[in-house]
Amino acid sequence: MKEIDWANLSFGYMKTDYNVRCYYRDGAWGELELCSEETLNIHMAATCLHYGQEAFEGLKAYRGKDGKIRIFRPEANAERLQSTCDGILMPELPTEMFVAAIKKVVKANERFIPPYESGAALYIRPLLIGTGAQVGVHPADEYLFVVFVTPVGPYFKGGFSTNPYVIIREFDRAAPYGTGRYKVGGNYAASLRANKKAHDLGYSCEFYLDAKEKKYIDECGAANFFGIKNNTYITPKSSSILPSITNRSLMQLAEDLGIKVECRPVPEEELETFEEAGACGTAAVISPIQRIDDLENKKSYVISKDGKPGPVCTKLYNKLRAIQYGDEPDTHNWVTILD
Ligand SMILES: *Cc1c(COP(=O)(O)O)cnc(C)c1O
Repeated sequence: MKEIDWANLSFGYMKTDYNVRCYYRDGAWGELELCSEETLNIHMAATCLHYGQEAFEGLKAYRGKDGKIRIFRPEANAERLQSTCDGILMPELPTEMFVAAIKKVVKANERFIPPYESGAALYIRPLLIGTGAQVGVHPADEYLFVVFVTPVGPYFKGGFSTNPYVIIREFDRAAPYGTGRYKVGGNYAASLRANKKAHDLGYSCEFYLDAKEKKYIDECGAANFFGIKNNTYITPKSSSILPSITNRSLMQLAEDLGIKVECRPVPEEELETFEEAGACGTAAVISPIQRIDDLENKKSYVISKDGKPGPVCTKLYNKLRAIQYGDEPDTHNWVTILD
């Protein structure tokens, strides 16, 4: 095998040795199968291809200084996948089976887990698709669960830094009580236009308001939003936000640090009052926000006056990364160590 340049990995796909698959047929899940084939052979009338009966997850495995491999909160991803399955009528995969599949695929691809020093990690991508053939709009009778992995580089190559965002009103990602709270591919298809517009305008990402009133903050691209002020961590509550496991973890860490936590609707104007703000998710943990521009209303909410990440974002970021890499004790039992 060609040596992997760990220091220069991007967030792309790299072929690894194995993926894990599990089929749902006749009303039951089968065995977990280790597979070295990268392609899927599915029926052209599969419901995932026509009617978007597809769910996915994203999590990471980290190699510690002690050489141990840590997987961050896989049970939480299992539960979120179950919630997505419930939302789009797919059979739920039991938590034990999900976690066993994650461990199996990570173990089988151990040589692709980046070294501790690189700051990189192994990205784990589970997906569940309707494979049964249907032409009418019905849930499939057969499903396939697949987990593959790929090594990904550190998100902040030039160091932890801030980014500019732009409010997009023209395109919505998800409607209230729609599929925004489920991790389905359709939400991403719906976000591509807004994301392209933000990029074309020179921003790193699009910023969504609630689809109904365009008054409250929803998400920053495919990441949750949080703001910090008066020793309080504030994150929006809405029926179209995807419940981020990173956000949930940061809320707990904030509480541990004596910071108050509020989960409630956040009106756009409140952006003016934040001392710090960030976008959070598995990819970056926290991507601190430099400013949020509202072009239609000729407003710019400058969050970071000096362009640098604030002290609370930095502290939370370092704390969560330290737990993920095993540099600090895992007091909340978030980490699964690979045996
Ligand atoms: C996956 C995802 C997130 C982040 O969730 P994490 O569990 O923290 O990785 C946030 N928003 C959307 C829309 C997502 O799909």
